[in-house]
Amino acid sequence: METQRVYIDDIQHPDDTAIAAAARLLQQGEIVAFPTETVYGLGANAFDPQACAKIYAAKGRPADNPLILHVCSLDMARSLALEWPEAAERCARKFWPGPLTLVVRKRADIPDEVTGYLPTVGIRFPAHPVALALIRAAGFPIAAPSANLSGKPSPTSGRHTWRDLQGKIPLILDAGSCIVGLESTVLDLTSAEPAILRPGGVTREQLAEVLGVVRVDGLEPWRIPKAPGMKYRHYAPLGEMYLFVGSRENIVQVIREEMRKWRVRGKKIGILCTLESVSELNHEWPDFMYAMGSQTRPAEVAANLFEGLRLCDERKIDVILAEGVEESGLGLAIMNRLEKAAGHKLIRV
Ligand code: AMP
Ligand code: MG
Repeated sequence: METQRVYIDDIQHPDDTAIAAAARLLQQGEIVAFPTETVYGLGANAFDPQACAKIYAAKGRPADNPLILHVCSLDMARSLALEWPEAAERCARKFWPGPLTLVVRKRADIPDEVTGYLPTVGIRFPAHPVALALIRAAGFPIAAPSANLSGKPSPTSGRHTWRDLQGKIPLILDAGSCIVGLESTVLDLTSAEPAILRPGGVTREQLAEVLGVVRVDGLEPWRIPKAPGMKYRHYAPLGEMYLFVGSRENIVQVIREEMRKWRVRGKKIGILCTLESVSELNHEWPDFMYAMGSQTRPAEVAANLFEGLRLCDERKIDVILAEGVEESGLGLAIMNRLEKAAGHKLIRV
């Protein structure tokens, strides 16, 4: 299949012709990749199970991993839910449009194939003008997971999306890089206590301000997660990755020792670190070094993390040594992705 890549130059006022063409494809039962503020999505009409099946096929996504339904209004969100709890209304008013997915009981007319045969549905109102224009033009909620091949890091640019899905889908709307760069927070509102199933762009601390206590569920690899997606290998780079946490001085020292160790074995070494550690780590001449951002600006680290992982693959790095960050605020989501990428090879120093 030939894939068309259409560039959107003015993100605030996306070109009507491009949006109309994408919406028409969706109405015809096709799938389209589009930008959101979190990561790129691969979308289909949420009420068309055959169209949604094409998403699973293009990504190689397991059938029990549900899709998030993207809406362009609070009314559209409520129309998908069997019941709309108080907590959902409060979160929606505070964090939408934005990087938060609310899991609620679903209406019977939402196809089971789209929700991984669960009685619930994840709903998100994205903040990206291109995503919103596309949902409005299509006239229905768009079911969309991240637009990567299953197992790869989520795409945070049109370039990433093109590399993964070129030849597999008819159209990619390319609006450059995503501002948040991490997927949405998935919040389960179907049990007595709200629970974060996947940490993401909206932090636990922000949610606690609105909801009181918020549990964080499913982060431990040995537990069966409630968000089916969390049980699969994710963000896996081609190289072997190790994640180091502790004081920055210790991390730098240990990573330098590791570099020497791997070098004598003839391995190609990549470093993912914070800006603060660049000069000290550079002394050992890694084959590739990528500064995700400053320790004092976690949003920067979040936005660049998947680019760093993908560049390690493009440079055929054998061993990736990554510096961890503090696990508060956005750091919880950053560490969750880094740990998964490292296959949980976490080393405390
Ligand atoms: P992706 O869009 O690829 O980032 O994946 C969506 C994530 O949301 C996956 O981890 C899913 O398992 C999770 N998710 C979507 N819908 C639900 C739901 N109804 N209940 C629990 N988790 C969900
Ligand atoms: Mg995904």
